[in-house]
Amino acid sequence: MISVLAGGVGAARFLSGLTRVVDPQSVTAIVNTADDTILHGLNISPDIDTVTYTLSNAIDTERGWGLRDETWRAMKSLARFETVRPIGSLAAPTWFNLGDADLATHFYRTVRLQEGATLTQVTDEIRRAFNLQVRIIPMSDEIVSTEVTVANCDSVVSGKTISFQEYFVRYQHSVPVQSVHFRGADTAIFSALDELRTSDVIVIAPSNPIVSIGPLRALAGVDNVLAARRDSVIAISPIIAGAALKGPADRMLVELGHEASVVGVARLYSPICATLVIDNADQDRVAEIEATGMRCIVTNTVMSDPTIANNLARVTIESVMSRKEQR
Ligand code: GDP
Ligand code: CA
Repeated sequence: MISVLAGGVGAARFLSGLTRVVDPQSVTAIVNTADDTILHGLNISPDIDTVTYTLSNAIDTERGWGLRDETWRAMKSLARFETVRPIGSLAAPTWFNLGDADLATHFYRTVRLQEGATLTQVTDEIRRAFNLQVRIIPMSDEIVSTEVTVANCDSVVSGKTISFQEYFVRYQHSVPVQSVHFRGADTAIFSALDELRTSDVIVIAPSNPIVSIGPLRALAGVDNVLAARRDSVIAISPIIAGAALKGPADRMLVELGHEASVVGVARLYSPICATLVIDNADQDRVAEIEATGMRCIVTNTVMSDPTIANNLARVTIESVMSRKEQR
């Protein structure tokens, strides 16, 4: 069995490759839910949906989120209410785009949660509706929410604490981050400790180390189990040649006092992970990574086409399995 600790886009691409090179039924994706939000009264789980839509080839590959061939009539119709909405009302927000077909997923999730189903149950039902065989588990059934405190800057949110989606979508991650907090993480229960204890291989997907993998690590027991199984844990760096392929991971690392490089990633992961997979572009950093106590695998990690994703998945899994055989 293979467990994959997952955020959104980077993880979904990796999981696509992985489920083409191994039996999808042997794969469990344990997905970040600290980006989850409620808008229009609807429960939205962006990372779970990105993984589900990508694995079923329903994703809009250009945007990286939402469904392919989407239409936006509901969003456009919200504009009608701009002029009548009282100040302070949260009705009809237009800063977060939800496509017409995508809405069906949020309708389903919201009502099932209201009926008393757990997020784990609903996520599995949605997975089955998309005909997927891979297991997809939300990191917790309890609410954990990433909050971002903005550093002093010339934005209206300077010094304020805002939700992750406000930071990411509304302010397009253009404001500097002073700190990140996962509200609810001190009491929420991680859904998949047994999977971590029993998996042959645990992969930390190429996802944002702070706000995608960070929330999973903040839950009780996760870092302890990973540290105890360190030789079976392998991470793929989301940072390539000092930059994120997409999103704020590189800036966020620097703003929070880390190095935006494969070495910075290695320092964050070395206590819980024995091996780091880095891109050919970072070949010259191998010695520094090894100095953190990690083994290093160098290969092409930019999953711009399915063949590269397949190879990356194969190299990642084989590197852990062959090491186990040697022992
Ligand atoms: P989000 O929740 O959708 O923001 O997604 P993640 O946290 O999973 O993804 C953001 C990170 O994934 C960024 O740091 C990207 O650099 C990384 N990423 C996306 N695609 C790839 C890829 O093809 N290869 C690697 N190595 N990293 C990727
Ligand atoms: Ca995310």
